[in-house]
Amino acid sequence: MPVLEVHNLVTRYGAITALKGVSLRVEEGEIVTLIGANGAGKTTLLRTLSGVLKPTSGTVRFAGKDITGRRADQIVREGVVQSPEGRLVFRAMSVKENLEMGAYTRSDSDIGKDMERVFRLFPRLKERIGQSAGTLSGGEQQMLAMGRALMARPKLLMLDEPSLGLAPVLVRDIFRIIVEINAAGTPVLLVEQNARQALKIAHRGYVLQTGQVALEDTAEALSNNETVRRAYLGG
Ligand code: ATP
Repeated sequence: MPVLEVHNLVTRYGAITALKGVSLRVEEGEIVTLIGANGAGKTTLLRTLSGVLKPTSGTVRFAGKDITGRRADQIVREGVVQSPEGRLVFRAMSVKENLEMGAYTRSDSDIGKDMERVFRLFPRLKERIGQSAGTLSGGEQQMLAMGRALMARPKLLMLDEPSLGLAPVLVRDIFRIIVEINAAGTPVLLVEQNARQALKIAHRGYVLQTGQVALEDTAEALSNNETVRRAYLGG
């Protein structure tokens, strides 16, 4: 049984239909990437899955349970957690407070242990533990956003453009860390403009075009697909 199963999802902004019947799945252990041009609907899909937007029709099943149309906080409690763009950290709060906020749905006492794990993945955050998030660099804010998502103990981690605007050396780090998180047992749904890198670490992928799935295949097959190469991999 897939961890995430999306069937015929339709999402509208007023008269604009941004998702026109999207179906996809994420299996246990997988990194699945979603590639597509600006405006293809990638962000709309993640926002619908995380409960920020309500779909007009279609279904979302998570771990076998229908979660279609649930509120965002209920969806986080189910274990579906989105790491937003780095700019969306709580700027006035310290690094530590941001990470604690990530664990707000939890009542157990392992929060300190999980914070240590985040610091092992992102040693830079430990060095900045008392600093307010607004003073971090763009790359550090991106790490903090991912760290905050991990604090919720996701059963599915959704990443929206984690490499956006980062220096090349940080991009490599971020992709390596995504692989590490996945290897430790968390399935990942990865939205990326950087299709080349995303397909390198993903198991499977979907190409989204104007709100519809145009192609679906293993990451390797997509990397070798002539249309994908021309449109998304620069030749
Ligand atoms: P990008 O990489 O540029 O974020 P995307 O693939 O994530 O692109 P979406 O942001 O999901 O695409 O946008 C999908 C479609 O929905 C686009 O046609 C966009 O113009 C439209 N859209 C997005 N947000 C809104 C909104 N708040 N109101 C109206 N239309 C919107």
